[in-house]
Amino acid sequence: PLPIVAIIGRPNVGKSTLVNRLAGDQQAIVYDQPGITRDRTYRPAFWSDREFQVVDTGGLVFDDDTEFLPLIRQQAMAALQEASVAVFVVDGQAGLTGGDREIADWLRQQSVPVILTVNKCESIENGFMQAAEFWELGLGEPYPVSGIHGSGTGEMLDELITHL
Ligand code: GDP
Ligand code: MG
Repeated sequence: PLPIVAIIGRPNVGKSTLVNRLAGDQQAIVYDQPGITRDRTYRPAFWSDREFQVVDTGGLVFDDDTEFLPLIRQQAMAALQEASVAVFVVDGQAGLTGGDREIADWLRQQSVPVILTVNKCESIENGFMQAAEFWELGLGEPYPVSGIHGSGTGEMLDELITHL
């Protein structure tokens, strides 16, 4: 199968919108192979000459904003185990939250490379300012994008495919 890119982040940051942007209207792949978890949806995507598949993890949820809900955490962990790269999506309009910090702490303990993607950055100028705040997560360069408009996704994908 194609390399897997796991889309991770709090609910409502725009993960599903970004998946639709990356995968367009290409149909989901259904695998019937050992080692591939079947309760997640894999959608083929490509950038430049690289093909991959994106899996939307459904959103890491915190109960009382400090603790992962175990089941959802388990699903995200399973998705991450199969992934070549994680796209960690945060909300540039909401700014950095405690939930983002907790996910970042968890991601830093994994061995998968992380592309930090700051969504809802429609304006290029504001986008870089909105994104700058996320440097402190310690996950490298934050890439401002707009999943709705598509802006910024090219730069993010250029970086992403170097890890495939
Ligand atoms: P998910 O829960 O992380 O999958 O988030 P969704 O993709 O369902 O989006 C959550 C909300 O954010 C929806 O109301 C989207 O329309 C909105 N949204 C998603 N991407 C963007 C974006 O790039 N810019 C803005 N302004 N809103 C967005
Ligand atoms: Mg979603």
